[in-house]
Amino acid sequence: PAGTSTAPSTASSYPTSHEQIQSPKDTTNFIDNQFVESKATQWIDLHDPATNNLVTRVPQSTDEELKAAVESASKAFPGWKGTSLLARQQIMFKFVGLIREHWDRLAASITLEQGKTVADAKGDVLRGLQVAETACGITTQMTGEVLEVAKDMETRSYREPLGVVAAICPFNFPAMIPLWSIPIATITGNTLLIKPSERDPGAAMILAELCEKAGFPPGVVNIIHGSAKTVDFIIDEPAIKAISFVGSNKAGEYIYARGSANGKRVQANLGAKNHAAVLPDCNKNHALNAIAGAAFGAAGQRCMALSTLVLVGETKEWVHDIAERAKALSVNGGFEKGADLGPVISPQSKKRIEDLIQSAQDEGAEILLDGRGYKPEKYPNGNWVGPTIIANVKPHMKCYTEEIFGPVLVCLNVPTIDDAIATINANEYGNGAAIFTRSGATAGRFQREIEAGQIGINVPIPVPLPMFSFTGNKKSIAGGGANTFYGKPGMLFYTQQKTVTSLWRSEDATSQRGETVMPT
Ligand code: NAD
Repeated sequence: PAGTSTAPSTASSYPTSHEQIQSPKDTTNFIDNQFVESKATQWIDLHDPATNNLVTRVPQSTDEELKAAVESASKAFPGWKGTSLLARQQIMFKFVGLIREHWDRLAASITLEQGKTVADAKGDVLRGLQVAETACGITTQMTGEVLEVAKDMETRSYREPLGVVAAICPFNFPAMIPLWSIPIATITGNTLLIKPSERDPGAAMILAELCEKAGFPPGVVNIIHGSAKTVDFIIDEPAIKAISFVGSNKAGEYIYARGSANGKRVQANLGAKNHAAVLPDCNKNHALNAIAGAAFGAAGQRCMALSTLVLVGETKEWVHDIAERAKALSVNGGFEKGADLGPVISPQSKKRIEDLIQSAQDEGAEILLDGRGYKPEKYPNGNWVGPTIIANVKPHMKCYTEEIFGPVLVCLNVPTIDDAIATINANEYGNGAAIFTRSGATAGRFQREIEAGQIGINVPIPVPLPMFSFTGNKKSIAGGGANTFYGKPGMLFYTQQKTVTSLWRSEDATSQRGETVMPT
């Protein structure tokens, strides 16, 4: 090990710069409310994307550790299920307060490990915190139904937890996505195993510490680490009843298929290619600002990043205005004041993005703004890609058919709104789509006809807040979108129904005969 193992930072001391960590500490497992050193023989080096300095080593948790986490969660389940909803709600209130208290620390961990700017990392925490805040009000959603179905007979319905459940998380929202699961899975009475992304588990480790402080009993929330091996363990372990996955299509389609074949419930949010149709009648300044922010914010590493523009009619000339706004964005270390976007997650990711830009050039598109080769002076070793705009793209080009997941805006030109709708609907992804227009009639038509699941009208990144649900569709969600994250569908995902039919006769039975036919 590189040093002693402990939780990644303490409440009072956390990083505020990209300075090299002198003795990086290894990331631990979190089992039974304890941070336990891993006996792993395989470790994954985690580097600060702005410097490529070593931050920590993440274990490939051993088979014994994976089993210990499941045992801990299985042991905790009966007691946690038997804890009243109101008592669980009190713990959630405390958890919410603690996240607010540790907000800056969580954001700092995200900036150090994931690379996004501190201001944006605070948004990452807030979006997750809002799921926890909304979960506190789940008491009303959890009420069942009752009906008197015959004389002296009634049927009541209850929602009960599933048991041990697991969450497999991506790198791009290290706090928000664990928080899509922790609050709803636990307040409904399940016990949970989280496998954070091996590329940035620090925020999840802080959340584990806050769970313990909030009063979650040992075993209700556990954290295990690793990559595909840990995922396979989760998919095949019979004690795990449900899996929440967020990440790429490659991993998610496999997890959905094999998890479902093993009889588990699986919710899986996948990749995207989010389009915006820009109409000549829109509020131009608002649209240009919104597009530049949504395309390049978080270095384009958001599943709802606005990565594709469909410029209708004369708006094809506006790419030059967008390029001006993109050039004005500051690409720098996420701790630096004024930074608008940070590096991409890894050298491999940088290379993949640069190769996709090159493929666009080779296929005849125009690289209007080229972010390749950019380096901020202070951080020459980071994984930098500056804002890039590719114009005159055609739907067959690789930069259009593949999710780029970097600060690259792909622009197509079409003559009419009909062509814009047809182009967007022909794309196999269906996470989000936006329209910029002043016409209510055009917006209404777009809303009705577009097949993507989350529509923005003059809103570039239309992610619903947690009182709704995250509603991507088509190839952006596995299983046809039957199980969506958070909101009421999130509660339904983590619970199963039980109905109880009871008969309390008000008069004694007079017949001496057993009935063999179904009552009619
Ligand atoms: P990823 O699929 O590489 O990793 C996600 C998780 O799956 C990680 O925990 C990883 O360890 C595991 N994993 C990776 N490859 C695996 C394999 N072959 N077998 C088993 N497990 C595997 O995704 P990422 O790069 O961390 O995240 C980016 C992707 O996530 C993008 O495609 C993005 O669109 C998507 N995403 C989607 C949403 C959404 O809500 N639709 C939200 C965030 C991110």
